[in-house]
This record gives sequence, structure tokens and C-alpha cells, in this order.
Amino acid sequence: MIKIRTGEEIALLKENALLVSKTLAEIGRHIAPGVTTKALDQIAETFIRDHGAEPAFLGYDGFPASLCVSLNSTVVHGIPSDYALQEGDVVSIDCGTRYKGYYGDSAYTFGVGTLAPPDKQLLRVTHDALFKGIARAVAGNRVGDISAAVQNYVEPLGFSVVRKMVGHGIGTNLHEKPDVPNYGRQGKGKKLTDGMVLCIEPMINAGGSSVYLEEDGWTLKTADHKNSAHFELTVVVRSGKPEILSTFDFIDEYYNTYQA
Ligand code: MG
Ligand code: MG
Repeated sequence: MIKIRTGEEIALLKENALLVSKTLAEIGRHIAPGVTTKALDQIAETFIRDHGAEPAFLGYDGFPASLCVSLNSTVVHGIPSDYALQEGDVVSIDCGTRYKGYYGDSAYTFGVGTLAPPDKQLLRVTHDALFKGIARAVAGNRVGDISAAVQNYVEPLGFSVVRKMVGHGIGTNLHEKPDVPNYGRQGKGKKLTDGMVLCIEPMINAGGSSVYLEEDGWTLKTADHKNSAHFELTVVVRSGKPEILSTFDFIDEYYNTYQA
């Protein structure tokens, strides 16, 4: 069963979406060579709690931190550590909130200092793929329309789609139905209805799509050790045009993916 959310519920999801968006922007301001990923995690936890919310990832299935910090060839679910960021690192930050019984979940990939041109392109393509997918989150379409829009945008540019992890519904749980893969076929999958709330989150690799899990049971890496990027926003399926709840605007005020 895919939930259809009322206006009141969507207002609460929007509060979460804005808080998680502001948290990502706060983290982005602190990304610099020498900063440890653990320090970023602390900043996120404090920021979320200062706003009266809870970090949704902390303790989720036993995850030990408030942020997933995924460096370079790590796709998702990197655990914050004493690693100090270095010039040229690709850093995917994924963050979740729980507030008033609802959830927020958003991700953005930053560059530390100046990125190599292929990494800049990886970020730009993944960012743009997200918006290609979002544009298809319209009532009457199917999940496969979102999936195909992402896949058909990135693959001709020489990038690959991670299959192992997918987007999802969100509401009173962090992960709800339906699954929203970043690969698939137009016209296939569940039908989209006004009021469904989805997290669309392409995870795109510079090399092949194969991934493996590190021994810590969390860190998901590319098999060929090439870099990976991840962008995620929350949208409400609407008739005609989707309603985007979370935003990169707070990040765009000081950081531009295109110039990373
Ligand atoms: Mg996320
Ligand atoms: Mg998510």
C-alpha cells in the first residue's frame, strides 16, 4: 500500500524537508581540507537537535551516526570517522531528520576545494539526473517513468546507475513504499497518484554499476574504485507538476555544483 498524504501531513513532511535541507547547507559550509568526517557528523547532530528534531539515521538499523559521509568511491552509507578531508575529495552527505512524527531525508555531493574535471562532470550529471527524475513525478505516470528518466539521461553520457540501492516513499517511516529505482522502463511499475511522497535519489558511478559492501556492514563502494555521486530530494506527486519539498537553495547560496 502506497500512502496518500493529507495536506496536514505534507506540511509536517515539509518542515522536515526544510530542516534537512538547512542541515546539509550547514555541513557544506564546514567542508574544507583537514576537517574530519566525524566533526561534520557532530555539527549535523547539534544542528538538528537545536531545531527540536532528532537525527533519523542515528541508531537506524544500528547505524552509528547522524550523517552518512561517503567519500570518493564510496556510493552511500559511509560511517563518519577520523579521516580528514583532502583537496579534491568527492564527499556525498546524506542526512535524515525525525520531527513531529514525520521524516526528512536528503543528500548532496560536495567537492573539497577544486575537483578534477571528470569529478565535476560526475556531480553535475548526477544533480541533473535527479531533476530529470523529479520532472516525471506527476500523477498518472508510473514509477518506471522516473527510473527511466534518470537512466536514459546518465547512461549515454558514459555513467552508470547503481542498482543495489533505490529511492523510496517517506512519511511516518524513513523508508516506505514504493521503491523508486534509478533504472527501469517507462510506463512500468506502480502508478503515481496525487499526494504520494517520494525520495528520489540517483546514485551514479563514473565507472561500472557494480558495488560491494565493506566489512563494517555499511560502507557501499564501487567495485572498480571509481568515484560515485548521490543527490536526493523529497517530492509530492501532483497533477501537472510535482511539488518539491526539500531544496538545495540554501547550498546554492554559497556553493555551485557546476563550479565545484
Ligand atoms: Mg538519504
Ligand atoms: Mg533516501
